Amino acid sequence: MAETMKLQVITPDREFYNDEVTMVELNTANGQMGIYPHHIPIAVAVAPGVLKIHREGEVREAALLSGFTEVLPDKMTILAEACEWPEDIDGARANEARIRAERRLSAENKEGLDVARAEMALKRALVRLSLAKEKQS
Ligand code: ATP
Repeated sequence: MAETMKLQVITPDREFYNDEVTMVELNTANGQMGIYPHHIPIAVAVAPGVLKIHREGEVREAALLSGFTEVLPDKMTILAEACEWPEDIDGARANEARIRAERRLSAENKEGLDVARAEMALKRALVRLSLAKEKQS
């Protein structure tokens, strides 16, 4: 049997996940990472992406939008500002967020626009839409 580590994902309103896992894939400020048990201790900022939780031969996916992760050899903790299972994603809402962000970023007059904020909003919307495709109107 594959070795495991504990994965805990905490959001502001609930404990999203708490179980033994064999591998975790996530997007960080330093790029895509795959974390196995016995990883050296690190702490990194989360970037919007698909969180892939591997356990007992199965993979579950969730939208992980932002937060912070601490990796220890036997435990990985993700403090997430937002994390959603595909079935919890409101595709129409994400599509509206995408349209809003794209409109802002393509406006001729960008005076007063926080470009980095709009780009992050667009990334969050695209991650959500990639997992909730069937719910898009
Ligand atoms: P919006 O502009 O639609 O609020 P956002 O990217 O700014 O999107 P976040 O700040 O990432 O939203 O999230 C705020 C809260 O709303 C979190 O609890 C998050 O899980 C929830 N949320 C945001 N968008 C969606 C969505 N499309 N489906 C389900 N929950 C969502």
